[in-house]
Amino acid sequence: MNKIYSVCWNITEKCNEFCEFCYRTIIDDLSLDKNKKIADKLIEHGVEKITFAGGEPLLYKELFDLAKYIKSQNPNILLSITTNGLLINDQIATLILDYFDWITFDLESTSIEYHKKVGRGERHLPKTLENLNQFNGKINIKINTVATKQNINDIPFIFNLIQMYNVQRWKIFRYYPITYKAQDNEDYFSITDEEYEELKRKILQVTVDTQIQIDFNDYEEFKTTYFSIFPNGTLKDNSGNVTCNILSDSIDDCIKSLDLSHHIVRKRAFEKFTHIKQK
Ligand code: SF4
Repeated sequence: MNKIYSVCWNITEKCNEFCEFCYRTIIDDLSLDKNKKIADKLIEHGVEKITFAGGEPLLYKELFDLAKYIKSQNPNILLSITTNGLLINDQIATLILDYFDWITFDLESTSIEYHKKVGRGERHLPKTLENLNQFNGKINIKINTVATKQNINDIPFIFNLIQMYNVQRWKIFRYYPITYKAQDNEDYFSITDEEYEELKRKILQVTVDTQIQIDFNDYEEFKTTYFSIFPNGTLKDNSGNVTCNILSDSIDDCIKSLDLSHHIVRKRAFEKFTHIKQK
């Protein structure tokens, strides 16, 4: 039986932002009962970390019931949520702190205008800063940034903002025209290999003395190391074709169908876990 270390679970494709580089497609959500069955399978295969993403995972109504169920089955499983943060209020913040070990916020720029221009909206930046204040020091925090032709020069300055908070990781994704709007807007957002390497050099320069773990995510890692579950339980290969459904097929068959070697899944998970600080 293959062991699963780390899973990205896109629990819903619904979203309340409209990013022009988004690659989600529209798929119906599963019921809580069906998602509990998927969780059982992951737990059976020894999963150590589950990241709920989307879409916007807070739009899945039973997210906290599912998180509670997973923790009740195995409290050692690390739960992480990747959210645009717009729906967070005091009540939701309390639930996140009750059930989750990590929270990831998206931050693309130091400018309200940029977030507005790419479809995140003008509330995104102030709300992210408000959320950072609210969660600071209470949970492990990660920041995700999508590097595009439009924000590439501003990205190193994001560090000035996030270093004011107790952020554990900052991950910079190279824009990837995989599907949906991300594919339609390829010319507007794509950056060259040289531009990407230059960005990495600049970021490593400004973050040289930081305790924040800096990660870069290029096409290859994106395509070969993510074990991602879609809202209806399907898994897809590198070309976006559905290869199996985790609800009806065995996890071992799903891993085989994805051509996602156990070694790579394991390696990525270990690299990640070496930096995790428990609450
Ligand atoms: S990139 Fe994320 S926040 Fe933006 S529209 Fe897509 S799912 Fe929503």
